[in-house]
Amino acid sequence: DSLSNKIAAGEVVERPASIVKELVENSIDADSTSIEIALEEAGLTSIRVTDNGKGMSRRDAVLSFERHATSKISNEHDLFRIRTLGFRGEALASIASVSKVSLFTSDGETEGTEVQLDGGVVVKQSTAAFRKGTDMTVSHLFYNTPARLKYMKTIQTELGHTIDLVNRIALSHPHIAFKLSHHSQTILHTSGSGDRRKVLTDIYGMAVARKMVPFTGENADFKVDGYVTLPEMTRASRNYMTLIVNGRWVKSYAANQAVLDGLHTYLPIGRFPIAVINVETDPFLTDVNVHPSKQHIRLSKEGELFDLIKSSVRDAVKRSII
Ligand code: ADP
Ligand code: MG
Repeated sequence: DSLSNKIAAGEVVERPASIVKELVENSIDADSTSIEIALEEAGLTSIRVTDNGKGMSRRDAVLSFERHATSKISNEHDLFRIRTLGFRGEALASIASVSKVSLFTSDGETEGTEVQLDGGVVVKQSTAAFRKGTDMTVSHLFYNTPARLKYMKTIQTELGHTIDLVNRIALSHPHIAFKLSHHSQTILHTSGSGDRRKVLTDIYGMAVARKMVPFTGENADFKVDGYVTLPEMTRASRNYMTLIVNGRWVKSYAANQAVLDGLHTYLPIGRFPIAVINVETDPFLTDVNVHPSKQHIRLSKEGELFDLIKSSVRDAVKRSII
């Protein structure tokens, strides 16, 4: 019902960046190779995500806005083997309940579909010519929950959150071409070549990216690889470290600390590296169902992982400094 959707929205839809995250994750789960994100007023006026993924049938297009509608897991067993970014089936219902949504989609087999919703209520549903893929626009964010709108910070702050998010998602998916624009000005454009250093170049520029040191490591349970800046290229904030576990960007203070520990003899006080740490492991060792935002993860054997990150970073930096 509309009240529980609005309550859930409080957990999933904190700000424009949280909507971008949910929409882009859906595009990734739909096997898209190209995803475009276009914002007006940092997304407060409108967020449009266009993908070339598998799209939806007419029936699924309307169903996808129902609470707990997910095509991604069908039983409890699946919950412990999650490969997709989404699985709770509540993001679209939550987002739609606090905005106006316009959707064009096609699975490439049947005719395309157009759906429009206002505050979670379907106001238009018709066939529409559309190529395979999905094009979703979320506008008038929080128009029916003014208290939340009041909490939104300035355009620059909200835009900063979204840029940071898209950078990290692009780093997590080097095989997907991403384009982020604001008022038709391009902010990020990645090629989808699969080369993570190329994505680092697109985000931080050639001067920084070509000086980053690659590291790798492996033990019985984890495979780690990534890039870290040398001490002279560090920044005054910890926010430039990105941990990716099985393709999902997650927040982990402990993993960041492992990178810092690996660098510690080289790191000037108050300085932090730009780093991307990519971890592959059996999904059975991970639990992402900790919070609705799916940004936190529980890991079995995490001490073992942090030791691996620390030694991989230390060895690689030591080698390149000598
Ligand atoms: P979840 O991602 O947890 O399954 P969502 O509410 O985010 O739940 O999405 C509901 C469903 O809508 C998804 O399971 C998927 O079937 C469909 N869907 C949403 N966005 C897309 C998209 N861009 N392409 C194809 N299917 C989509
Ligand atoms: Mg989703």
